Amino acid sequence: MQKEKDIILTGDRPTGSLHIGHLAGSLSSRVHLQETEQYQMYVMIADLQALTDNAENPEKVRKSLFELTLDYLAVGLDPEKTHMIVQSAIPALSELTMYFLNLVTLARLERNPTVKHEIREKGFGHSIPAGFMAYPVSQAADITAFRAKYVPCGDDQLPMLEQTRELVSAFNRIYGGNVLVEPKEILPKRSACFRLIGTDGSGKMSKSLGNCIYIKDDEKTLKEKIMSMFTDPTHINVSDPGHTENNPVFIYLEAFSSDAHFAEYLAEYHNLSEMKEHYQKGGLGDMKCKKFLFNVLNETLLPLRKRREWYERDKAELLNILKKGTEKAVEATERTLTEVREAIGINYFNTNL
Ligand code: ATP
Ligand code: MG
Repeated sequence: MQKEKDIILTGDRPTGSLHIGHLAGSLSSRVHLQETEQYQMYVMIADLQALTDNAENPEKVRKSLFELTLDYLAVGLDPEKTHMIVQSAIPALSELTMYFLNLVTLARLERNPTVKHEIREKGFGHSIPAGFMAYPVSQAADITAFRAKYVPCGDDQLPMLEQTRELVSAFNRIYGGNVLVEPKEILPKRSACFRLIGTDGSGKMSKSLGNCIYIKDDEKTLKEKIMSMFTDPTHINVSDPGHTENNPVFIYLEAFSSDAHFAEYLAEYHNLSEMKEHYQKGGLGDMKCKKFLFNVLNETLLPLRKRREWYERDKAELLNILKKGTEKAVEATERTLTEVREAIGINYFNTNL
């Protein structure tokens, strides 16, 4: 019999289009993992999670569902190999969330550093939606309902995976057996991609913060965004020594440039280390760096834009892709939940009295 493939679960919140932080942090690695054909991957549009901080703006969530699907197809995710799925249409995920909520304390949820940071960023004050506070639990349910062994993600997700492992271990300890599987993260290869900085240089590039270069941005928009990007505020004259750390131009080059890009667009340097050295010493202007970055990103994004445009013509087909993927997800998660109910002992109607 053929060995069952290990499961991968990843996903995104439908709160806007995907950006180059996603490309560097998770999308590229998803496509790579897909092409190895060693795994069964589910890519989830986490609309329930998006609603935890967008309850009053469901239209945004609905619209973004299509945007995300287009971005997935644009980067090369292939519905023949990867299931693209919709969270709210998979009942088992909400059910498992309910069981998990009893295995975690409020104090533990309040300690999650990513959530703490997001609460500050979103300015909730004292009005934090309970659903938002608990979204790491729902995320743990997503991962475990699929029995996912691996989760490719950026490093903002590490606390979520830690929380998931704790819940799995609590569940297996209390209800016995090895019903649920502890997941491991797969982080990007280049550390600049762990949590790609935004164009404003102030923090993570994030859909909700308006500091993004989107995968779908056209050439003109891309150029405008790069040309007005934050660099090193102390690098005023070309001859001034410059800082490359915390400088988004260099961080993006770190994430996306290759030696081949240098050979093609900036042959006076062989590689990024040589270019950085010159910038740090002084004598290399921001404009020149930005033009190079534009060439690198434009070359990277061009084929993605073309593919996106091609798929954009058929909205019904997008829904069809999601429907088919979600059907597979419902089957897989229902199998897990049958075992979960059995383990807890609440499978009343399937037992002999
Ligand atoms: P939102 O602002 O709505 O939270 P987001 O831009 O943070 O959106 P998510 O949908 O929360 O995007 O994240 C989806 C996945 O993309 C996660 O695995 C996350 O780690 C990764 N990711 C998001 N932003 C970045 C980034 N700037 N750099 C690297 N990876 C990222
Ligand atoms: Mg986020």
